[in-house]
Amino acid sequence: MSKNETIVAIDGPSGAGKGTVARALAHELGYRHVDTGAMYRAVAWQATHNGVDLADESAVATVAQSVVLTLDGDRIVVNDYDVTEAIRTPETDVASALVARLSAVRQVLIGQQRAIGETGRVVMEGRDIGTVVFPGAAVKIFLDAAPAERARRRAADRAHTSSRSADLVGVASALEARDASDRTREVSPLKLALDAELIDTTGMPIDDVVKRVLSLVRFKLDTSVSKDER
Ligand code: C5P
Repeated sequence: MSKNETIVAIDGPSGAGKGTVARALAHELGYRHVDTGAMYRAVAWQATHNGVDLADESAVATVAQSVVLTLDGDRIVVNDYDVTEAIRTPETDVASALVARLSAVRQVLIGQQRAIGETGRVVMEGRDIGTVVFPGAAVKIFLDAAPAERARRRAADRAHTSSRSADLVGVASALEARDASDRTREVSPLKLALDAELIDTTGMPIDDVVKRVLSLVRFKLDTSVSKDER
């Protein structure tokens, strides 16, 4: 099999269940799970930490180029500093969506994401994995859910909950603003790839979503193997 035939792309907006589904899929398939959102968050965190203006494209791109990002399971380390928890704040939600609009930053991170996927056997989640990072991925899933449900899930997610973010109305409007930014930006906007499977997870228990995606992915991966053997 070529490497593209063992790449599973999971895209979609925040709170659609990408993280849970991608992690479970990777576990079941014995693939590596890569959360590309954590990479944008880590760059945003470091740039903020350095006092860089997040609208300054070349300054933020310099930060992206100079930091060493290490993705180790669910942990993310910037240089030698573990930022796994530090990047899950409402402030980093906003900052990550700002740096994600910058083409020079995306070029750096997309290069790293492609290098990680080089060996195949990867479940990669993000916003542009099936459209830009790995347009030849064997399986592309686009997870979506109604905005109110995504906000509810996000508010219930302990990793994202602080005293401020626990209020549902605040979570919903922050989520809506970030989604609007992700969908309307010029570079790599969040959109459905033509050959992606759209799954609306509204009202579905997450375990059912995992089962459904897993059977779909197994079917598609088996189909690519048998195509290869023909
Ligand atoms: O997935 P997560 O919410 O952690 O991503 C944080 C932000 O990073 C998103 O709002 C989006 O702006 C950006 N992102 C992106 N492309 C990806 C992954 C995340 O633009 N592949």
